[in-house]
Amino acid sequence: TERTFSILKPDATKRNLTGAVNAVIEEAGLRIVGQRRIQMSRAQAEKFYEVHKERPFFGELVEFMTSGPVVVQVLEGENAVAKYREVMGATNPAQAAEGTIRKRFAQSVGENTVHGSDSAENAAIEIAQFFGEGDIA
Ligand code: ATP
Ligand code: MG
Repeated sequence: TERTFSILKPDATKRNLTGAVNAVIEEAGLRIVGQRRIQMSRAQAEKFYEVHKERPFFGELVEFMTSGPVVVQVLEGENAVAKYREVMGATNPAQAAEGTIRKRFAQSVGENTVHGSDSAENAAIEIAQFFGEGDIA
């Protein structure tokens, strides 16, 4: 069993879609073992997306991720990292497969409803940024 880190982004909370997205997550067999709704600070968002800081969309991304509340989550299950990436769909909703979260709910490549870790190593780093072991069960 494996853990991954998930964020329900501001476009999801704004449109009251957190329950709908969580239903897709749970139907995929992933267990929500940690969950907290927070307002990300600018510093938190900049640190979280540090790997993208040279990309042209970095400023826009930080602006978006701090534009409203997000739900940070720890998901657990068999091959959780790969499974969640599959359930999320492609970064650009226009290219996302039928039935995926981004195909069903996302509005644009920037406002794409969810984040999911891209490796188990990054998952551990990202989880540690928002959760203590005592907050996961
Ligand atoms: P995430 O890391 O959020 O799970 P991802 O791994 O599919 O998404 P990345 O390439 O890591 O995509 O990009 C991180 C985030 O930056 C995207 O989810 C999206 O919100 C934003 N982003 C990516 N490309 C663009 C773009 N061309 N224009 C605007 N925003 C973008
Ligand atoms: Mg990514």
